[in-house]
Amino acid sequence: MNRREPDQDESAAAPARGGLLWVVATPIGNLGDLSPRAVEVLRTADLILAEDTRHTRPLLQQFGIGTPLWALHEHNEAGMVARCLARLAAGQRLALVSDAGTPLVSDPGFRLVRAAREAGIEVSPVPGPCALIAALSVAGLPSDRFCFEGFLPARAAARREAIARLRAEPRTLIFYESAHRIVEALADLAAGLGAERRATLARELTKRFETVLHGTLQQLQARCAIDPDQQRGEFVLVVEGAADDAMARLAEGRRIQALLAAHLPPSTAARLAAELSGAPRKALYDSAKAEA
Ligand code: SAM
Repeated sequence: MNRREPDQDESAAAPARGGLLWVVATPIGNLGDLSPRAVEVLRTADLILAEDTRHTRPLLQQFGIGTPLWALHEHNEAGMVARCLARLAAGQRLALVSDAGTPLVSDPGFRLVRAAREAGIEVSPVPGPCALIAALSVAGLPSDRFCFEGFLPARAAARREAIARLRAEPRTLIFYESAHRIVEALADLAAGLGAERRATLARELTKRFETVLHGTLQQLQARCAIDPDQQRGEFVLVVEGAADDAMARLAEGRRIQALLAAHLPPSTAARLAAELSGAPRKALYDSAKAEA
């Protein structure tokens, strides 16, 4: 039985088949990006689990897919898991989709996938579009290692704190951001990571008004702030990682040391800050002594 060709594995003589959960990527804008295999899996599944049925139904109609549809979103996922597991245990094949892109990537589905795995049910990906990968692929920033941060916190203080923790991160950073916070987020990133950090702002990827802007964080913030068109739609922000140099490590060490100094003796604060940042302990201790 070849599960990669679901149209070929239905046979009256076949023994009872095992349940299977497919995790299916759908387009992030351009419907042409729904793969032929995704169409086939969605067509032959017993049931599709969709983040928002109102969003997924038109997509299915477009491809002439009449498979039954259930809603599975962050507010009902905990309760839906048992119902889905019962169907999977009975040998059904379920397909999980989200509103756009790859399920579980800043989208629901994690609880269901974990529960299915724990129940010994096969879980299989049908890969395809994902906004962060699409943005990274055109950013022109180092892509051998990267760090996906999802959405930054909505509240300014929490957002700035989250950004401060990333200041010394050497890997390329990737963020999702909403239209109404993009200018604010760029300003906070420029202030927290350095105005001269290079970045790419990928907007409305694969859609009619796709734009991919490159520049420093400061330039991108200025561009978005004066152009209302650049404040509409969906965004991925790709930011180059921190230069792994001694100055960056020292700056990060000093930041950590200042936080620890409120609770610990100076020598302990300097030792822990050195371990966490990679900066020399003596340099941290000496600079704290000089400031005292
Ligand atoms: N699961 C999706 C994926 O695989 O990319 C992400 C879902 S998340 C709830 C939605 C966010 O992804 C948007 O707010 C935006 O940051 C980003 N996004 C989705 N589609 C996009 C597009 N076409 N262009 C740019 N960003 C997009």
